[in-house]
Amino acid sequence: MPGATMPAAVYVGDGRIEVQQLDVPEPAAGEVLVEVSHCGICGTDLHLVLQQYARPGSVLGHEWAGTVVATGAGVTGWAVGERIVAGPRGGCGDCYACRRDRPSVCRSRARGDMLGGRGAYCRYVTVDAARLLRLPDTLSTRAAALSEPTAIALHTISLSGVAPGDRVLVTGGGPVGLLTTAVLGAQGVADVTVSEPSAVRRAQALTVGARRAIEPTVLERAAIGQPVAEPYDVIFECSGVAAAAERALDQLDEAGTFVFVGTGHDWPRVNHNRAIIFEMTILGAYNYNADGFAGAVALLDSGRLPLDALIAPIDVGLDALGVTMERLSRAEIAGKVMVRPTVEGG
Ligand SMILES: [Zn+2]
Ligand SMILES: [Zn+2]
Repeated sequence: MPGATMPAAVYVGDGRIEVQQLDVPEPAAGEVLVEVSHCGICGTDLHLVLQQYARPGSVLGHEWAGTVVATGAGVTGWAVGERIVAGPRGGCGDCYACRRDRPSVCRSRARGDMLGGRGAYCRYVTVDAARLLRLPDTLSTRAAALSEPTAIALHTISLSGVAPGDRVLVTGGGPVGLLTTAVLGAQGVADVTVSEPSAVRRAQALTVGARRAIEPTVLERAAIGQPVAEPYDVIFECSGVAAAAERALDQLDEAGTFVFVGTGHDWPRVNHNRAIIFEMTILGAYNYNADGFAGAVALLDSGRLPLDALIAPIDVGLDALGVTMERLSRAEIAGKVMVRPTVEGG
């Protein structure tokens, strides 16, 4: 489509997003052009925009699914009209992370993609055909836009080593916490408590399968060297809030596992003495298992996730992205908001 333009939500600086007309990209050799169907709003996008980390002129959005509309030179095995998601680039195969089958933290991976790259808050994106995964007929393209965060939840859970009988705490009932809770449920982990200050999000946590949803204030402070009265075996810290992480660390049982999932502006203080005498495992989870997107697509297609509760019911156009990000940052919306690459007006 030489010379054609498309609407895109462009970060223009000062925490603001504006819809602009950009050139439709041309697929290079080995690439396909994809029409974006839906792109989810991620907490990372909120940080990049509202805390102004993004580079002005960039288009964000990395949780998307769409349809192939053109193929570049040399692309075989893919046809116009096929519905797809794009997995991550492979690792170098050689660094420490790759040798441990963790290519998503490969030392040579492309960094800073989201800071200034061309994301999917726009009508068309180009993508390397080697990254494509075909969607099953039974999975909607809209639901498939959850593939990336679902791959993250699968990775987080597999790194944690959680077992079905474990007593689990998820701190933060935003999109990441809710998806983690739902994927835990799909894997047979039934005893999940979600701690979350927003009443809307607590209600949603119960809908996606949490056994309990509590206000963070009810979590007790631990006495020095003592477990709390009802400690947890595995804790997923999904809020990214320093105070929440510090209180969550108090809830961990001896030999328990604590996973940092949510990123945040301020850093929590970790009581290393408590970590030592409890022999805590404290780890970070960032990206995906080596086959993470295939697993995510299969799980989304399995019917074992409460998709209607995980995805916010009303999709928004590109022109409502900025205001929706502000609403999400105030925890006014429960679930993942999907952006359509259209301009709705109003
Ligand atoms: Zn994301
Ligand atoms: Zn590597």
